[in-house]
Amino acid sequence: MKMIRWACNASAVFGYCLLMVLPAFAIQAQSRYGLKAMSLDEYKESTKANPAKELIDLEDFVPGLVLDIRYATTNNFTGERIYNLAKAYARKPVADALAKIQADLKKMGLGIKIFDAYRPYKATVKFYEVYRDTTYVASPYRGSRHNRGCALDLTVIDLDSGEELQMPTGYDSFKKEAWPSTPVSDPEIRKNRALLINVMQKHGFKVNSSEWWHFDFIGWQKYEVMDIDFEELENL
Ligand SMILES: [Zn+2]
Repeated sequence: MKMIRWACNASAVFGYCLLMVLPAFAIQAQSRYGLKAMSLDEYKESTKANPAKELIDLEDFVPGLVLDIRYATTNNFTGERIYNLAKAYARKPVADALAKIQADLKKMGLGIKIFDAYRPYKATVKFYEVYRDTTYVASPYRGSRHNRGCALDLTVIDLDSGEELQMPTGYDSFKKEAWPSTPVSDPEIRKNRALLINVMQKHGFKVNSSEWWHFDFIGWQKYEVMDIDFEELENL
C-alpha cells in the first residue's frame, strides 16, 4: 500500500513537472533566440487595427514587376530551397512606394526585378544557422527587416531585353565589392548602382551598407516581425 501511494505521488509529481516543462519547450521552439514573431491570427488582428500593416502581393499590385525569388530555388547562398512558393509580399506603404519606383523607371525603359521581399522569421533563423556572420545575414535575436515586410532585395532590368543592368556583384555576394561605399571603376556599373540607389531613396528607402541590392523602408520599426508562410497568406 505504501508502495502504491508512493508510486501515485511520484506519478502525480512527474505529471505536474511534465505539465510545467512542456509549455517551456513549446515556447523555446517558437523563439529560440528570445524573439516572439507574429502568427497569422495576430497578423490578421493587427491589420484590422491598422490597414497599413497588410502584406500586399507585389506581383499583383505593381504592373510589370519581374520576380526572381532565389530562396524558392537552390540558386542562393544556402544551396537549399527555402520557400515552397516564389512569392513577393510587402506592407502596403512599401508596395505603394514600389509602384511609384516602377513608374519612374518605366519612363527610362527600365523596371524592377525582385529577388526577395517579406521573409518568414523561420527563414532568417535558418540563414543565421547556415552562415553566422551578421554582416550579411540578420541576427535572429532581432530579426530581419524582411521579416517585418519592410525590406526589398532587387535590381534594375532593361524592359526591352529583360536583362539585368550590370551591377558591381551578383545578388547575395559576400564580397566587399557589394558594399555601396566601395568605389567602382567601370563608369557604366557606377551609373547603374547610383541610378538604383537614387530612385529607391527618392521613394523612402535606405540602402544597406554591405548589400547594394537590399533596401529598408524608412519607418520599418512600426511593423512587427512575422513568421507567416506564403501558403498561409495565399489562403487568406
Ligand atoms: Zn535583403
